[in-house]
Amino acid sequence: EAKISGDRYLFYTKQMSDRVTETLALESSLRTALERNEFVLHYQPKVDICNRQLEGVEALIRWNSPQFGLVPPLKFIPLLEETGLIVEVGSWVWRRASRDYADWLAQGVFAPRIAVNMSVVQLRRHDFVSTIAALQKSTEESVEIDIEITESTAMDEVADSIEKLHELYALGINIAIDDFGTGYSSLAYLAKLPAHVLKIDRSFISTMLEDPDKMSLVSTMISLAHSMHMKVVAEGVETQDQANMLRLLRCDQMQGYLVAKPMPFEQMTAYIRNRELN
Ligand code: C2E
Ligand code: CA
Ligand code: CA
Ligand code: CA
Repeated sequence: EAKISGDRYLFYTKQMSDRVTETLALESSLRTALERNEFVLHYQPKVDICNRQLEGVEALIRWNSPQFGLVPPLKFIPLLEETGLIVEVGSWVWRRASRDYADWLAQGVFAPRIAVNMSVVQLRRHDFVSTIAALQKSTEESVEIDIEITESTAMDEVADSIEKLHELYALGINIAIDDFGTGYSSLAYLAKLPAHVLKIDRSFISTMLEDPDKMSLVSTMISLAHSMHMKVVAEGVETQDQANMLRLLRCDQMQGYLVAKPMPFEQMTAYIRNRELN
């Protein structure tokens, strides 16, 4: 008995130390990634569920590491948060998105509003709003950047969130509550958040056609959002059947592989131009 559990213990510590080593390697190269310009933004369209008109795009960060390849955000965002580097990277995301938007304006193509994701670490800082205000001031006035905040982030220290989101609203920034349905929001607080958009989490969309409980939750979330004068975006729509059902349920917009995967800036620009031709 004792020996088996002893071996197991060794086994786990070996795995754990491998993971620690990997994490340390990632962390040290993440520190220089910003200076070396290794981050890139990809853009994914959000379209009207009825006529498929382009309503906006979401900026999604990737790390193009010479050592690790193209690293998805879930692999490195938590590390950026732990080390506090997310604050600097978050500002970089805002500036990059602003420049891309300005580039669309300069090229004379339709410029969809860009939404950027905000980490809880950014939102909780006392200088969060002044940082955003300064970033906004340093870019062209016609640049429209919006913010996505996950439901759990918004509900963490909810009074602080409500205050800061109101200040952002006053700056003309639209706010979307991301991953909606995964947290445990009190409706009373939800109603107090000055958000324009609810994004229903992909986990509901991907299962609703097989699971009647999920379906009725999606339906309830849509009615709830509309009663609070919010628009609803369905995340992770992958099939036409899902899109048809969401249209019946009066969802406003959709985002997902059915429409397009996230793509680099140049490809997004071509995508916009193509739609203008059609
Ligand atoms: P999110 O904000 O919920 O973003 C949506 C994620 O779903 C993206 O993953 C997107 O590529 C993926 N997705 C979109 N449509 C589909 C679909 O039809 N099927 C499937 N299976 N997936 C779909 P991604 O790009 O890997 O990003 C993961 C998460 O990383 C994001 O989730 C967001 O929380 C975070 N993130 C991304 N960029 C940033 C950033 O600049 N700052 C911060 N703080 N977080 C970011
Ligand atoms: Ca998001
Ligand atoms: Ca989401
Ligand atoms: Ca998500």
